[in-house]
Amino acid sequence: MSVSAENIFDVSRFVADAVRRQPAYTPGEQPQGGGWIKLNTNENPFPPSPRVIEAIRRELGENGASLRLYPSPESSPLREAAAKFHGVSPAQVIAGNGSDDVLNLLIRAFSGPGKPAAMLDPSYSLYPVLSGLNAAEMIKIQVTAEGVFDVDAVADSGANIFFLTNPNAPLGIAFSPEKVRDVLTKFAGIVVVDEAYAPFAEEDCTALLKEFPALVVSRTFSKAYALAGMRIGYALAHPAVIETLDKVRDSYNLDRLAQVAGAAALGDADYYAGIVAEIKRVRNEVSDTLKNLGWRVLPSQANFLMAEPVVAGESGAAVAGEFFRYLKENKILVRYFPNNPVTASFLRISIGDAEEMSIFLNIVKQRVL
Ligand code: PMP
Repeated sequence: MSVSAENIFDVSRFVADAVRRQPAYTPGEQPQGGGWIKLNTNENPFPPSPRVIEAIRRELGENGASLRLYPSPESSPLREAAAKFHGVSPAQVIAGNGSDDVLNLLIRAFSGPGKPAAMLDPSYSLYPVLSGLNAAEMIKIQVTAEGVFDVDAVADSGANIFFLTNPNAPLGIAFSPEKVRDVLTKFAGIVVVDEAYAPFAEEDCTALLKEFPALVVSRTFSKAYALAGMRIGYALAHPAVIETLDKVRDSYNLDRLAQVAGAAALGDADYYAGIVAEIKRVRNEVSDTLKNLGWRVLPSQANFLMAEPVVAGESGAAVAGEFFRYLKENKILVRYFPNNPVTASFLRISIGDAEEMSIFLNIVKQRVL
């Protein structure tokens, strides 16, 4: 018998129970072909620093000969650059193939059967997929659209590891370092503060690392550093935590180009301060415009807005769903999370450049005014 794509093969009986039970993560749509205004996955509308491109070219050399050789297993260039950037030791840094890789390492190392994980709901919908695949229970702690959650509920959850997305995604609101300190003081397990959007926020939690050995701060190059296509992230933590994560990761989890690209990006603070300031400026302008149209917009400290469409005086899940489709018909992609009552009447709108946002606002006004 020849095997072709048409053959039916029931593989499920061979699949590990946890993997069979867990539905896959659904990433935001990545449309192929041009003409789209893509405001759905919080990418950066600006190119990365020219120093990043230089570093990649330098690593490739004349003929790419360096690619014959395996990269540094520890991603040393990037660990050292991140350590310098944050004023910690390289032993307190682990690099990942995107911060998703780091999150997966954390789940594998610190959760499993009988070792539940916890997260805010709503927050990043990858966490429960990773814990499900690892046969770990995920405990969800409610957070309101105003950013209120019960720290005692986290403390009493019985979880071994708690993921706190700060600023929150998809809400965009930020929790103060004092609130995070309260969590760290009361909760007995590992606390991961996922700071994917922290470069757009007023404050971050890295200073708490000195006081709390159970704190892990994760960062990504996909948003502020305009390198989503390269897959680079890292985490800062106590050396004992890093050592544990190192045990779990792939031996060569970052390629050579990613290692030097990430290091070069951290070395160009001026360039990134410029594009982050511009994204924040546009974010605040778009927020004001939408509010003037009568929409509710959550206060954002990220590179996206959570906004509740109002059409002819009406809002709610049906209006948001319809508005999502209307934007898509006009080749504008945003993100809609209909399955959570906190998010069902909102759309999450990534901040593009000024021109993209002006086209977006014109399309919005055509429907609303
Ligand atoms: N954390 C949060 C909260 C995110 O929104 C994202 C992006 N989807 C990530 C982590 C992952 O980013 P990356 O794997 O691209 O570094």
